[in-house]
Amino acid sequence: MENSEKLIVSLRQLQNRITAACGHANREPSSVRLIWVSKMQPLSAVEEAIQLGAREFGENRVQEALEKFLPAREGIKCRIIGPVQKNKLKKAASVAQSIDSIADLESVEKLESFCEEFYSARGAETLKKLEILFQVNTSKEESKSGVPMQEAEEFLRALPTPNNLVYRGLMTIGKNTGNPEDSREGFSFLRNLRDKMFNSNPKFEQFTELSMGMTGDLEVAIAEGATMLRIGTALFGERL
Ligand SMILES: *Cc1c(COP(=O)(O)O)cnc(C)c1O
Repeated sequence: MENSEKLIVSLRQLQNRITAACGHANREPSSVRLIWVSKMQPLSAVEEAIQLGAREFGENRVQEALEKFLPAREGIKCRIIGPVQKNKLKKAASVAQSIDSIADLESVEKLESFCEEFYSARGAETLKKLEILFQVNTSKEESKSGVPMQEAEEFLRALPTPNNLVYRGLMTIGKNTGNPEDSREGFSFLRNLRDKMFNSNPKFEQFTELSMGMTGDLEVAIAEGATMLRIGTALFGERL
């Protein structure tokens, strides 16, 4: 099969899974956005995906994002979904519309000041504010990144009011044990935390997003209220 034919078939199968899961959860499929995780895929795969209607991509390494998503294409969003080293935050902010993996105060402060520079250099009216999601480690595995569950609420409450950023919501990675049910508790925790924060303070007035669910556990994520699914394998196949 041609590459793009493969992608068409994968997309159709994925859309069927999403529609079925939304049916079970009594949700509108339009309430769940698909983030195409293009990490380790060539530029040609990104171009094909755009042809098929993809509008939002997830990359977990800043360097790869720069190679594939600059210069920016009209209407196409790049989201950084992997942990970003402090010395790469500025580059990340230059390519991404959203950074979804923020888990410490210093990164928030650095992004504030980089965006301040960008906006004053280029004219604040013409630029959309950088959005961020906070990553919570709901898997209880030390190796995963994100704010530990038991510290997450306190961390969020202590955040400064953003000026050049928008706090949009939360992100987590499920347990990935092979049993999608093992992700449920963490996803449910994330939704409760989002609900608690939303409108608790003006700094969270746009705190509506829940980025959770990957190829293995998207049905559970939809049932628990995901607003974005981050899907790589089910679209592009196994990464080499
Ligand atoms: C790779 C990756 C994904 C995509 O996972 P798949 O199982 O291939 O769908 C989602 N989120 C993050 C943070 C990733 O690094």
